[in-house]
Amino acid sequence: MNLLDNIRIVLVNPMFGGNLGSICRAMNNNGITDLAVVDPRPDMDMDEARKFSCNARAQLEARKEFSTFEEAIADCTVVAATSARTGFYRDTSYTPREFAPVALESAKDHKIALVFGREDKGLLNEELAMCSHIIQIPSSDLYTSLNLSHAVYVCCYEIFSATGIFEPSEESAPEADAALRERMFGMWREMMIETQFVHDQKLDHMMMGLRRIFNRGKLTVPDCKILMGLAKQSMWVADQWKKNRSD
Ligand code: SAH
Repeated sequence: MNLLDNIRIVLVNPMFGGNLGSICRAMNNNGITDLAVVDPRPDMDMDEARKFSCNARAQLEARKEFSTFEEAIADCTVVAATSARTGFYRDTSYTPREFAPVALESAKDHKIALVFGREDKGLLNEELAMCSHIIQIPSSDLYTSLNLSHAVYVCCYEIFSATGIFEPSEESAPEADAALRERMFGMWREMMIETQFVHDQKLDHMMMGLRRIFNRGKLTVPDCKILMGLAKQSMWVADQWKKNRSD
């Protein structure tokens, strides 16, 4: 069962099509697909909404519309209001990161809602009163109120991250073994001699430095091949140079 299917994003009376479109995209970026719009404005610029939704156009079309807030949250257990303002019991608020496990726990058995307010006035106190939790997104005192779609993004992102579904991509190239590494170091040693980069007395010291640099991260087979190619080419150039001088 996909817990994210039980997360509903509720937008109360949003104003701007651009935000609605961006929200569809933000939801899909984070695997969330249940969108409810309460009291949609008849004059909302839907061309803009389509434009900003990009490849989440189907999400935009799949939104459900409700005339009242009560209807949009009726089947949800946890109903979390989001608010940038302080006061009205907001001192018990959660950050999106703190709220994410609460959301996922409840989503095992029930629909839950995250509620977002109007761009100009936020959520009304009557609406906040109907919510079981309050989420406040940490922000600088310079400007505490986020753009509506950004606020949706942050909340969806924290819930998506908390599912652990996403696994960061890892280096797929095989790691170089000692034999290949030593061949590469051998070629670099030779290159430093051929190009007269160091004198004999300093060679071992320089090699230790190089080993330290190259072993700082994980050396892969393609890494070693690049380094060996560079050494080979440098030795060829040094050889040409010596031949030209003796001509
Ligand atoms: N001027 C309005 C701002 C509304 S911003 C006000 O004072 O409330 C639109 C919506 O984005 C808000 O209703 C809320 O749902 C969300 N939002 C914006 N900044 C937020 C923050 N720092 N924390 C939580 N939600 C935020």
